[in-house]
Amino acid sequence: MKRVDFHMHTTHSDGSYTPEELIRYCKEKGLACVSVTDHDTMSSFEKCLQEAGRQGIELVPGVEISAQFDPGTLHILGFFLNQNDAALKNAFEDVQKARRERNPQIVEKLQAFGLDLTLEEVIHEAYGVREMPAGKQLGRPHFAKTLIKKGIVKTHEEAFEKYLSKGKPGYVDKRRLSSKTAISLIRQAGGIASVAHPKQMRLDPEKLEKEIARLVDEGLEAIEVYNSCQNAEDNKLFEKMARRFDLVMTGGSDFHGANKPGVDLGWMGDGIELSYDMVESLRNKIRHRSF
Ligand code: AMP
Ligand code: ZN
Ligand code: FE
Ligand code: FE
Repeated sequence: MKRVDFHMHTTHSDGSYTPEELIRYCKEKGLACVSVTDHDTMSSFEKCLQEAGRQGIELVPGVEISAQFDPGTLHILGFFLNQNDAALKNAFEDVQKARRERNPQIVEKLQAFGLDLTLEEVIHEAYGVREMPAGKQLGRPHFAKTLIKKGIVKTHEEAFEKYLSKGKPGYVDKRRLSSKTAISLIRQAGGIASVAHPKQMRLDPEKLEKEIARLVDEGLEAIEVYNSCQNAEDNKLFEKMARRFDLVMTGGSDFHGANKPGVDLGWMGDGIELSYDMVESLRNKIRHRSF
């Protein structure tokens, strides 16, 4: 079977593998077709593509866009989009700027709470240098890693539960695109939108169905039924949603390397392996779309 994984991160967002390392690891894991989905940027695409060519892996252009949502998290995955699309590039630049402005604010809030931590330490933990390298970004997993390194917390989960999650002392909201804007940008760039890890929206089935209906109105055409953060029961619910709204079922590990310990590449739940049929379904959906 040709296995696929459509959700993973490089050092161009908050993964710990460089684009080349990640694609080589895909090869090692026996994946035939993958999509690299960095947060709010496609800057790793060219490097991934070159390495994919060397390794004989099929690479589908991808991205994961953070959208406005309360009280949970709403991430929209885009696949098959043109990374040179001007509107998309502009939107990514705006969002990256918001992220850069957020980083010192997170540090300030943690310091005000009494933690001993500097932005330089986070940058150093993330990239081994003192100043932010061009084209790279910091995400909360980097803050988590630094808190572990400094002995302030023991695990990644503890860092989020105590300090970094919504409502906790180090949480700073960042400006995000609306889901409507995110989905239109993806479609106008030739791509197809899938709602990432729906479990993280933290809604009961009834509310979830309403939200999915809204997203479908906005142009959503796929749903990430399989993700390392979702269990068999979740998968069943999301499969049901997919059938209810005629959405393509996508899946991915959400691999971040050392920045998200415990999640390996290609793993989206025990016994779950996604085949190349998923890729064909996405292509068919794009080809036969009516609006
Ligand atoms: P950011 O884009 O900087 O807000 O960071 C988002 C990333 O943090 C997500 O992609 C996850 O990898 C990670 N994350 C968010 N919430 C949690 C959580 N509760 N536990 C562990 N990791 C989380
Ligand atoms: Zn991430
Ligand atoms: Fe996500
Ligand atoms: Fe992700």
